[in-house]
Amino acid sequence: MSTLLKNIFDSTLHLFYPHTCTGCGSDLLEDDQLLCLKCIHQLPHTNFANIKNNPIEKYFWGRIPLTAAYSQFYFSKEFLIQHLIHQLKYKGNTQIGFYLGEMMGKTLLSSSRFNDVDALVPLPLYPDKEHKRGYNQATVICNGMSSIMNIPVLNGAVTRQHATETQTRKHRTERWENVKSSFKVVNEKELKDKHLLLVDDVVTTGATLEACGSAIVQEVNTRLSIATLAYAAK
Ligand SMILES: [Zn+2]
Repeated sequence: MSTLLKNIFDSTLHLFYPHTCTGCGSDLLEDDQLLCLKCIHQLPHTNFANIKNNPIEKYFWGRIPLTAAYSQFYFSKEFLIQHLIHQLKYKGNTQIGFYLGEMMGKTLLSSSRFNDVDALVPLPLYPDKEHKRGYNQATVICNGMSSIMNIPVLNGAVTRQHATETQTRKHRTERWENVKSSFKVVNEKELKDKHLLLVDDVVTTGATLEACGSAIVQEVNTRLSIATLAYAAK
């Protein structure tokens, strides 16, 4: 097809199937594009991946032994990233999660602190929650990372189960024990003797990541790092 014809074809297609930026809703010309250039430039990168003792690592000091930790973006109300994560978690937009995962993969490949990671572990959701959503957003992010980093995503090596009814009424310390005990390593062989990267969408208090990470390092001889798409500054 000649360029002119292709252009006419593409713009006709565009009329029938308008393609818009996931961030701001403005028209996009390329069908494979998810964000416009303006939005791409507005993404609030932290640049923490190369910084030792960055705020994410400080979160976990004294809580869990980590090789490294980082978040790709700042998460706060006025930022575009909140909208994108909302799209990923509640609007079924897995494409944007994969795309942001690819961005993380590129960052990590060029970081000397993460470039020896052997496998990605998505933070498990409760099975009923995952069933309702249709996917685990952390797995979607991992898939994007994996496509760039060429390392496996270990789905199902760790599981998460609800505590029983009576346990949920216990006081705070026991509730924490509960969160901790909700994660179970089910495939030790797959996890051992590696540098694992535990991945989630947003880190706020870090309690869930700590619980899952603790379950892993207590059960398995392995090195552990943590990566999240965004971090909500306290
Ligand atoms: Zn945009």
